[in-house]
Amino acid sequence: MLSIRKFAIIPSLLLILTSCSGQEERQQPQYRIESGHDLSILTTTDTHYLAQSLRDFGPAFNQFLAAGDGKQLGYSREMMDALGYDIGIRRPDAVIISGDLTNNGEQASHKDLAKHLQQIEQDTGTRVYVIPGNHDIQNPWARRFDGSRQYTADSVTAEEFRTIYNNFGYSEALLEDGDSLSYLAAPSEDLWLLMLDTAKYGDNKKLGHPQLEGGVSSATLKWIRACGELAAANGAHIVAVMHHSLLDHSEFIQEGFTVDDHGQVIDTLLQSGIRTVFSGHIHIQDISQYQEENGNRIYDIAGSALSVFPHQYGLLKYSSANQTMDYSTAALGMEAWAAATGSTDENLLGFKKYSEANFRKRSATRSYSRLSADPAYAGYSDAELMAMADVVGRLNEIYFAGTARTDNAAVIATEGYRLWQSAPSGGLRSYVLGMTSREVKDNQQLHVELQGP
Ligand code: FE
Ligand code: MN
Repeated sequence: MLSIRKFAIIPSLLLILTSCSGQEERQQPQYRIESGHDLSILTTTDTHYLAQSLRDFGPAFNQFLAAGDGKQLGYSREMMDALGYDIGIRRPDAVIISGDLTNNGEQASHKDLAKHLQQIEQDTGTRVYVIPGNHDIQNPWARRFDGSRQYTADSVTAEEFRTIYNNFGYSEALLEDGDSLSYLAAPSEDLWLLMLDTAKYGDNKKLGHPQLEGGVSSATLKWIRACGELAAANGAHIVAVMHHSLLDHSEFIQEGFTVDDHGQVIDTLLQSGIRTVFSGHIHIQDISQYQEENGNRIYDIAGSALSVFPHQYGLLKYSSANQTMDYSTAALGMEAWAAATGSTDENLLGFKKYSEANFRKRSATRSYSRLSADPAYAGYSDAELMAMADVVGRLNEIYFAGTARTDNAAVIATEGYRLWQSAPSGGLRSYVLGMTSREVKDNQQLHVELQGP
């Protein structure tokens, strides 16, 4: 068992903290696991929580769901309860959520989510650490759904965000950045978390929408170096957490998803001794790596969204004796939680099936309307078009889950896929063939050696 004790300031740490001038400093982090102990972290992202008070199941909300990207917004509360249930069983030492905590930055959603997180900390003794994503702050899209109408809802400012999530990182930060909501936290003496706020919300009001792109300012880059020096002086490893991707993950989406000027950010993180990054934003499970000429390597583990099928999270195990980290994914135990709490909701009791069908159907329906409106596909029967559309739905599902390595073969064996191979060239055909000819790698597991390159 890990022993958790009140943080006692060691003289060398105090010395270094006070010598880092120009940064906001905190000298009394509250909890710490002693050096030489293992650490387990549950990593999740894009919870996109929507407060129950902001929606009914009327036409406006259902329309919003249908037009969306598969987020199970009607089950936000249940999803967080199920996550709390899983955390109670798995007992990780820490939980990180790498942004897009809420659907569209609604104040009510933030407050309700913070209550869930408080409950999780109380019930399980874990520590939760959060950072904002592009949807969370000053979001002009914040809405309440009532009957056949949407109404503007209050969002939050950066200051309000910091206040609401004070207990989930900020109050125990070793250092806070003066130029963003980034902070450095130490869930254990050996492994520290660089929680980077890459969201840009300053222009949201003017833009009328949340800015998609993310960045790290030069002031924050400088602050990251100070964090790296502090960790090095204390013999601690750092894992970084950010909403936007550090590395490119997809040939289909990069613009607005990979952090701006990522070369600079990669250099700074590598120079600060950081080898592992957890990100979100793309809603796709994908592990990328970058290797410098000197052999130094950095991994960016993009987690799929907790709110979207397959509703999975990551588990990171740090071994002190081996100086390694091992990452793997696990499915949210929604069904187990629903059964344990006596739920009678069939969707929850069979959540995997329900959410999967929902996800596939959404993307298949869209593809079917595209194909049936395209004169190039006029020679196909309705059944053929539906089989082809189903292939697109299944490939999308696999793409988001990051399971191409194991699941592509079954799709390639279908009649629908055979139809695509001989189909007229065009947007959807190249998408389908592109999806099945991508390099297949393991996005569910990663082993990291912390010593050496
Ligand atoms: Fe998101
Ligand atoms: Mn995002």
